[in-house]
Amino acid sequence: MISGENMKYISTRGGIAPISFKKAVMMGLATDGGLLLPQTMPLVDEKTLDSWQSMSYPQLSHAVLSLFIDDIPPADLRELIDRSYATFTHPEITPLVKKGKVYILELFHGPTLAFKDVALQFLGNVFEYLLKESGEKMNIVGATSGDTGSAAIYGVRGKERINIFILHPHKRVSAVQELQMTTVIDANVFNLAIRGTFDDGQAIVKTLFNDIPFKQQYQLGAVNSINWARILAQIVYYVYAALKLTEQGGAVDFAVPTGNFGDIFAGFVARKLLPGRIRKLVLATNENDLLSRFVLKGEYSLGKVVQTSSPSMDIQVASNFERYLYFLYDRDARRTKEAMMRFAQSGILHFSAAEQERITTAFLSASVSQQKTLSTIRDFYQDYGYVLDPHTAVGVSAALAHLDSTVPMVCLATAHPAKFGAAVQQAIGRPPEMPESFRDLDKKESRCQVLDADLAKVKAFIEANAI
Ligand SMILES: *Cc1c(COP(=O)(O)O)cnc(C)c1O
Repeated sequence: MISGENMKYISTRGGIAPISFKKAVMMGLATDGGLLLPQTMPLVDEKTLDSWQSMSYPQLSHAVLSLFIDDIPPADLRELIDRSYATFTHPEITPLVKKGKVYILELFHGPTLAFKDVALQFLGNVFEYLLKESGEKMNIVGATSGDTGSAAIYGVRGKERINIFILHPHKRVSAVQELQMTTVIDANVFNLAIRGTFDDGQAIVKTLFNDIPFKQQYQLGAVNSINWARILAQIVYYVYAALKLTEQGGAVDFAVPTGNFGDIFAGFVARKLLPGRIRKLVLATNENDLLSRFVLKGEYSLGKVVQTSSPSMDIQVASNFERYLYFLYDRDARRTKEAMMRFAQSGILHFSAAEQERITTAFLSASVSQQKTLSTIRDFYQDYGYVLDPHTAVGVSAALAHLDSTVPMVCLATAHPAKFGAAVQQAIGRPPEMPESFRDLDKKESRCQVLDADLAKVKAFIEANAI
């Protein structure tokens, strides 16, 4: 080892011939309906890990990503990575700070103040690079309930050969979230406020992607968390934190506030990359506890979505779950496909005692109530003067429930508290401090098109404004 030489990607459902990284990024969802994964998992030896120890975040990112990418020249990859993290406001990109009994890995120093920037800044640059190479164009279309939309917009604003159309529910996202999206007035950015719910917008987007002639004619692209490049970029900060805390030996635990299983799946890959250095991944959910039930009871079953103070985790089907399932089934694509088909029909999967044991070798879990989330924010503030956002607080609460005094616990801080000011105010009785980039948001010029939740109207708008 180690290089990404001959790194190919396959589908969890076994229905495609192995493809290169570039093809995998452009494909997004595998054409057989499965998710793309590396055909083989690289292993990193101790000597290499030692050489990684002193690297800066962008250097480490280059070393890790090179294990999985063999079709972008190293100098070009370095340039893409450097540009992606130059937009972060902290010199360490993802600093690790100790607060009481846990470490907080701050992932919110990117342009939209949420961890999704770590992946979407990179994905935007990779898209631009690949489109320039192929001479093609792309129209990105997506629906958002708030967070992903702004991170995606900031990932591709001003880029050549890409236009982006983001649907959000009109007046149903927070004021800050709305302004974060609509104040990006680059010519390639189109915000569509849909008179309806997030689900209405999502349904329209799904229909557009299923309209194959439309999809092909306008080269529709997606930026959702099933894109392998997003997972890949997220592996890096697990490695970064684990290396910092295991220099003298031992292992670390990570607590991860989880919605679509994307972030924690990146942790699962990091755990495979660094044998012995990552012990447990604590899967933290809010009251939408589909994934906690999976870890704790060996049952994966649809529930009803409830609204909580951590809205980016209000999810009841985890779009990246199939990636883990493939590993749980020892990379048996036929069995994975069969299980996903069965789940689509029945809405439930059961796991054997032997499988449950394997699940709990890697994962611990807790589901955290709204009340507990708020009291965690309050207690943490009182004890350490540090303000958690509600998503991070869900992770910290689960971490404290599973703390082992012999193993450092790293809690992923997935958003800056200012993004969820109302919940923070409720918890600590005052609003969080506003970061510089938020202060004058309401004074900036903004642009947004309000449309009915009507497929034909959205389609006509895209036709008129597509690149
Ligand atoms: C998206 C998001 C999550 C959930 O991440 P997944 O990869 O979907 O598990 C957690 N916290 C915040 C703030 C988010 O925006």
